[in-house]
Amino acid sequence: MHIFNSRSRKKEVFRPLGNKKVKLYVCGITPYDTTHLGHAFVYVFFDTFVRYLRLLRYDVTYTQNVTDIDDDILKRAREEGEDWKKLGDYWTKQFLLDMKALNVAMPTHYVYATASTATIIRIIVAVLKRGYAYERNDNVYFEIKKFKDYGKLSRLTRSQMLVLSKERGADPKDPLKKNPLDFVLWQRAKKGEPGWESPWGRGRPGWHIECSAMNLQYLGRQVDIHGGGRDLIYPHHESEIAQSESYTGKSPFVRYWVHTAMLIYEGEKMSKSLGNLILVKDLLKKYSGGAIRWMLLSHHYRVPWEFEYHKLDEAERTIDEITRALGGHKTINKVKKQHLKHICNILNDDMNTPRALSYIKGLSGRATHDKRSAVVLRKCLQILGFVFPT
Ligand SMILES: [Zn+2]
Repeated sequence: MHIFNSRSRKKEVFRPLGNKKVKLYVCGITPYDTTHLGHAFVYVFFDTFVRYLRLLRYDVTYTQNVTDIDDDILKRAREEGEDWKKLGDYWTKQFLLDMKALNVAMPTHYVYATASTATIIRIIVAVLKRGYAYERNDNVYFEIKKFKDYGKLSRLTRSQMLVLSKERGADPKDPLKKNPLDFVLWQRAKKGEPGWESPWGRGRPGWHIECSAMNLQYLGRQVDIHGGGRDLIYPHHESEIAQSESYTGKSPFVRYWVHTAMLIYEGEKMSKSLGNLILVKDLLKKYSGGAIRWMLLSHHYRVPWEFEYHKLDEAERTIDEITRALGGHKTINKVKKQHLKHICNILNDDMNTPRALSYIKGLSGRATHDKRSAVVLRKCLQILGFVFPT
């Protein structure tokens, strides 16, 4: 199969390190608010990707994290007078319910950042010892000039990096930093904030180090695929590479970087900060999980697209048509490998789900009078993660 690697910016033949074993990591949510359609696009895509890799008989270990300690969570908890841990648990549970409604399967490891503080501290100690980081006033910073490949993934200029790092919560003006782009590995706990004991006093980890630690802890020193939304390329993934590779001395930390495109709504990127959100739980009041999944997969994962309600209405009609087409064929027969050749060719080409759905629609049109099409249709729907009554 071919997959587009954001690192080389090319479609590449997919060859995992461990022959038939695939290690996959996808950055998870920061649970302080509801799941919006932009999140659903990321996790439905990776769910489908994993299902397909498993069909190809890869033994996939899929790790996804929850960033359960973060400035945004602490801020929201303060505003609501709620305990930060309770708040995080509540929104994580809601997220998982939304994902379940879209038939997104649980990853192999679904892990909380706060459960990895020991690994985080171990990495920071080592990175400091090797001279990639420095300590100031009980904070530890990664010194980007010491890591020569910094910027190779995002290929941004320094001024672009400055704008983006500020947008993503860093403080380029922090006077303790040697370079405005150096990033936090460990920060001292302010009064009233949660903290963990460390060699630098009571504090908490920076955002990027959490993912480096969970990759290491649950998947090892090198992973095959690392995914997430495109907006994570800089600074998050760029900084993960710097931390992980300076810790392990192994390069590349990630063989294939796979990023999903941004979702647009009312002319702008759908995001919490802009507030133009379509929430999955609201859509589920009116539409089926299958229709939402269909609409999401009808867009290629690398192409930005605009959400419009009529797309969801169309998807619901398609789901109804397919349900009717399957109605006359209740039994699940075994599908011969050669009959799946077509759908595999489509998905082998960089997970072209829009083409796969067109093909499925075609099958559905033939299924009422052709038993073989009905059998193949059922199997194709299963491959893409759709559930239909049997
Ligand atoms: Zn991450």
